[in-house]
Amino acid sequence: MSSEDRIIFNGRRVLPDWPEKIEMAQHVSHISIGGVDYPRVRYGEEAGDWGADEVSCHDCAVVKGQLHVPGCDVERCPLCGGQAISCDCPYDVDDE
Ligand SMILES: [Zn+2]
Ligand SMILES: [Zn+2]
Repeated sequence: MSSEDRIIFNGRRVLPDWPEKIEMAQHVSHISIGGVDYPRVRYGEEAGDWGADEVSCHDCAVVKGQLHVPGCDVERCPLCGGQAISCDCPYDVDDE
């Protein structure tokens, strides 16, 4: 993909279909881990400060209070508090 294909959304350069992915991510409010549904951690609710008061998520471009796009490296795991994409919790992956 070339950089000309990117658009500016929430101050980030993103793929043209990214706003749609963000919209879809807002409908996935819970994540199933080991058969239990946990509410996903919204941008700005992380233990660390990612600058949610000032800027959109550096990885997925959501704004404070929104749910991250699945696969975002800022999203925290609601169970262990670690990075959701790299922690060892038994995520149930049956859909997106
Ligand atoms: Zn994000
Ligand atoms: Zn975890």
